[in-house]
Amino acid sequence: MATVVGAAAQTVVGVRQSERLATQQPSCHLRSASHIDSTPTCRSGHDLVYGYSSGTFFASDTLHSFVARPVKRNQRRRDSNFVVHAEADYYARLGVGRDASKSEIKSAYRKLARQYHPDVNKDAGAEQKFKDISNAYEVLSDDEKRSIYDRFGEAGLSGQGAGAGDYGSAFDLFESLFGGMGGMGGMGGMGGAPRSRATQGDDVRYDLTLEFKEAIFGVEKDIKITRFEECKTCNGNGAKPGTTPRRCKACNGQGQVLTTAQTPLGMFQQVTTCESCEGTGETSSPCTTCRGDGRVKIKNKKIKLKIPAGVDDGSRLRVRSEGNAGRKGGPPGDVYVFIKAKSDSELKRNGNDIFFSAKVSYIDAILGTTVKVPTVDGTVDLKIPAGIQPGSTLVMAKRGVPFMGKPNMRGDQLVRVQVVIPSKLSEEERKLIEELKEMSLPKVAVGATR
Ligand SMILES: [Zn+2]
Ligand SMILES: [Zn+2]
Repeated sequence: MATVVGAAAQTVVGVRQSERLATQQPSCHLRSASHIDSTPTCRSGHDLVYGYSSGTFFASDTLHSFVARPVKRNQRRRDSNFVVHAEADYYARLGVGRDASKSEIKSAYRKLARQYHPDVNKDAGAEQKFKDISNAYEVLSDDEKRSIYDRFGEAGLSGQGAGAGDYGSAFDLFESLFGGMGGMGGMGGMGGAPRSRATQGDDVRYDLTLEFKEAIFGVEKDIKITRFEECKTCNGNGAKPGTTPRRCKACNGQGQVLTTAQTPLGMFQQVTTCESCEGTGETSSPCTTCRGDGRVKIKNKKIKLKIPAGVDDGSRLRVRSEGNAGRKGGPPGDVYVFIKAKSDSELKRNGNDIFFSAKVSYIDAILGTTVKVPTVDGTVDLKIPAGIQPGSTLVMAKRGVPFMGKPNMRGDQLVRVQVVIPSKLSEEERKLIEELKEMSLPKVAVGATR
């Protein structure tokens, strides 16, 4: 298929027939520049996650994550969706008997919760286990819920927030018992230290359009975004400077309130986070700069970006920690830069390869010639070997797009040769060609002469 052209111009390494191009898949960043026909493929638009530090992007090793997956994977996923839930045995979860006393239950929960709290236990299943034992304790420590559970099982509790409790409520419960990990050693009664409401800031999206070559070779850009930053007046805590936070009246400083609900199975009491103080247990005069939010909106915040070579239309870059400030001391969000790359009128980009179509006259195709070809590096001489066939593709090695994170590796420029047949001939030309015809007689291929 591929004919190697010896002693051709330096940039030409091979000739490929047209059908090769016709069936070629979009090229993938992963394949080596020297293996043009390898099959792994991907389309542009993959996620490229980059670390950000002092104005510079560093390539991380995530390029493999956008290799196209075989179809098989979907089938396996579907199978794994069939999960059967067994009826939970809350007594077994806590390792106590069905006649266990309240203090035995509490002590068993305390022991297990310490063991499986995600702050100390990083095992894969620890979080789920922590949640499970917390749910079990929530039910068994409550006389009414325990008696419902004893009679009707888990089903009797559905809709009560128990049994189906979420992760957050597991923490509420844990912290209400022990006052968080810090207070565990001392063992508190109900109503430990109120929790802080630190939350991570939201991410910011920025759409950036790059020129054709900027995307290929990388570029430094200053972008301006609008984001929330920590209020300098109150250092982000939302309280007016000089004022002392007061105990929240709604929850009496507990951060939690008790709500009572009437249900067909009886009265239920539930502990929920206090809305007036958002669980902090304190209220304060709001900071006048940020109206108590702790954050202020900053417009046109300038951020320096170093766009790495090889990004493509649809690439997404992550600039770590440059997004909105978090609340109550929470970490900031990220900025996601969505890349739009302009196209070029002559050069067509496909992943790391560049396609170009070169027209040569039939005479040049027969005799061979050197043509000037535009590339991303500027105009380069390309030798057209004698006898080139219409639709052949010439490979200009390493004249393509640098690989993301591997700037020494580049794709190729693939030049498809279009042979132009004249539609009009002068008298003299016609004569000469007719002479040629007689010379070549039954031969199919036409020899060169002038
Ligand atoms: Zn403020
Ligand atoms: Zn409150």
